[in-house]
Amino acid sequence: SPVPDYLADVLDAVRSIDDGAPADYIEVLAKADTSRLAVALATVDGEVYTAGDSDVAFSIQSISKPFAYAAAIEDVGLDAVLARIGVEPSGDAFNELSLEDGTHRPMNPMINAGALATHALVAGPDASGPQRVERLRALMSAMAGRELGYDEAVYEAELRDAHRNRGLAHMLRAGGIIHAEPETIVDGYVRQCAVNVTVRDLALMAATLANAGVQPLTGRQVIDRAGVRQVLSVMTTCGMYDAAGDWVSNVGIPAKSGVAGGIIGALPGQLGLAVFSPKLDAHGNSARGVAVCERLSRDMGLHMMDVS
Ligand code: GLN
Repeated sequence: SPVPDYLADVLDAVRSIDDGAPADYIEVLAKADTSRLAVALATVDGEVYTAGDSDVAFSIQSISKPFAYAAAIEDVGLDAVLARIGVEPSGDAFNELSLEDGTHRPMNPMINAGALATHALVAGPDASGPQRVERLRALMSAMAGRELGYDEAVYEAELRDAHRNRGLAHMLRAGGIIHAEPETIVDGYVRQCAVNVTVRDLALMAATLANAGVQPLTGRQVIDRAGVRQVLSVMTTCGMYDAAGDWVSNVGIPAKSGVAGGIIGALPGQLGLAVFSPKLDAHGNSARGVAVCERLSRDMGLHMMDVS
């Protein structure tokens, strides 16, 4: 297949981009090898193509948010989720509080405030902290098609300094959006973000979303179809934070970025893609990752608004 050579060419074309910096607020991520660069594509028929550092694992971080949102929708129902978390882009950075006036709902599930509220709904109202965490690890594993583990160093480093997320969780508790202990929610959320993945894993997870919840290799329906539509909608409007508008017009694929330098894209009915490179732009999205996705979208005609 010509695809792996094409992908390697795309990586070579963006390798000289040296903008941005790795996340500095999580000690372990600040020391990441910034030369890393990887891409993977997975079609809904189960073809997987990779190039670059595709076996290098990194923490999933905020790319876990759409999967947690899918789990919450399945576990408590969409109405209960919408009662606590909105679906409007915030236009703010990922770690802003961004609560709606009146309802105290976080604006959307892709910013930290909304992701903390989402985490609290996973596995239902009576779930324990460990049950929520394991539900998410198991779901993400089923989507990747292999058992995923944790980057313990990232987990510990982030938990040590999670003061901002603790602040958000306490505000959610004060506003009646969450009822569990804020510290338990922050701990579980930080674990959810510390799941270790490669671009190959992420491409398959994205392809599962693109394939209406059916994992392309195992054929298992791992997440409810109705939830997938909701997840892809929110990824489209909110997945790239305050760069969502640029992203939708330039790339045009439902997407989510993470602070370790990963980005996923899921094009319904077609494919999942994933890129990884640690240096982040001013919006907190991988700088080279965005450039790779722009090229792939243009070269392969992936923009969802293109009329063929
Ligand atoms: N765990 C990170 C945090 O809460 C996730 C943020 C991200 O990936 N953008 O700060």
